[in-house]
Amino acid sequence: MENLIVLKYGGTSVGTLDRIKNVAEKVAKLHRSGKNIVVVVSAMAGETDKLLGMAEKLIDKPARREIDLLLSSGERISCALLSIALQALGCPAEAMTGRQIGMHTDDAHTRARIIHIDTTKTLKKLKENKILVVAGFQGINEDGDVTTLGRGGSDTSAVALAVALKAEQCEILTDVDGVFTADPNIVPNARKLDMVSFDEMLEMASLGAKVLQIRCVEFAKKYNMPLLVRSSFEDQSKGTLICKENKDMEQPIVSGVMRDDKQAKITVKGVVDKPGIASEIFTALGNAGLSVDMIIQNISAEGHTDISFTLASVDCDEAIAIMEAITDKIGLKEILVDRKISKISIVGAGMRSHSGVAAKMFQTLSAEKINILMISTSEIKVSCIIEQKHSKLAVQQLHSAFNLEKKPRRITKKQ
Ligand code: ADP
Ligand code: ASP
Ligand code: MG
Repeated sequence: MENLIVLKYGGTSVGTLDRIKNVAEKVAKLHRSGKNIVVVVSAMAGETDKLLGMAEKLIDKPARREIDLLLSSGERISCALLSIALQALGCPAEAMTGRQIGMHTDDAHTRARIIHIDTTKTLKKLKENKILVVAGFQGINEDGDVTTLGRGGSDTSAVALAVALKAEQCEILTDVDGVFTADPNIVPNARKLDMVSFDEMLEMASLGAKVLQIRCVEFAKKYNMPLLVRSSFEDQSKGTLICKENKDMEQPIVSGVMRDDKQAKITVKGVVDKPGIASEIFTALGNAGLSVDMIIQNISAEGHTDISFTLASVDCDEAIAIMEAITDKIGLKEILVDRKISKISIVGAGMRSHSGVAAKMFQTLSAEKINILMISTSEIKVSCIIEQKHSKLAVQQLHSAFNLEKKPRRITKKQ
């Protein structure tokens, strides 16, 4: 739709009634300037964790279906309040739940994927000059049950809507002024990046830069929808543009340091060392929808070996149960679990053509006597698993070792 902008406000930005009023004023101004507007909101700051905590007080592992219904209420509250605040300013706003906005997902409760968005009603309302205020993070499955898109999922709701409605722009308004070389809350002199390519942002998001949910970046890349990430508090903020790689981008060797503390390491000890065992283990995990990150297999001794892998800590208990279920099949002797680990990563498109980057990372960690438990690399990243207690120090030291606080010398890309 012509002249349509999709805005997404995160939890902190709608965290109090005053902040909601503030957002309403900005949206109203934009609407009066002639824009068609869809605003996606997250639950008020802390609300999702609070609801989750309440369920977990009742039972150890609440059913995912009920969790989805419970958590979706957080976004319903904030979208209804923002719509009311807009109406108080005389704007023709309407609050919409996931169901009302036509967000159809699969039925993987708590981590559902969007299958299709029915835009018929939405487009009709937009043509009537309405501002649509959408509850992010939620959809419905084939049975009409409420689903949620995984933590941070309102980002994905916004980008998917922007794509489906052919918006001219999609802005993610948050509590920091864009994407930084490291989490600015950990590294105070982290530098804001003006432009980041989809590929780099995909790596950053998957490695712990929670400023954007990874699935929203996947969507944006697939449909080439540029994203502007900027502060919801500063009107003049230029933020960070996430788009296709182009010649105006900085080409530093390393563009950022990321930390992910929500990881766990599982070691299955003494499994039989014969063809098919790794396949047995990782097929079982994959079939349950669990994504494994790093994998290491030790040298075998007397026909047996140890395999270690990492995954998101929320999936750890489920993975242990799956390993227990196939104990006999794989000849497993013992399962060890380490939940106090962190994954520290450096990311940069310029790494493709430079050597010695990983070595510098290892030297920096070793100078701080930080032991590396696992390593993995790709074309544009190096990740190390370390003990969680060192994670903040590791990020700070790597940030300064790679001089990330300073703007890199401009290297014009050969086309
Ligand atoms: P919202 O509620 O708006 O969705 P989030 O808390 O999900 O906001 O994401 C914003 C937070 O992401 C920031 O407050 C910051 O602490 C964190 N963050 C982590 N890494 C980065 C990074 N590289 N650049 C910017 N923010 C980051
Ligand atoms: N409220 C959800 C969460 O806290 C979704 C979001 O904020 O994007 O994860
Ligand atoms: Mg978020």
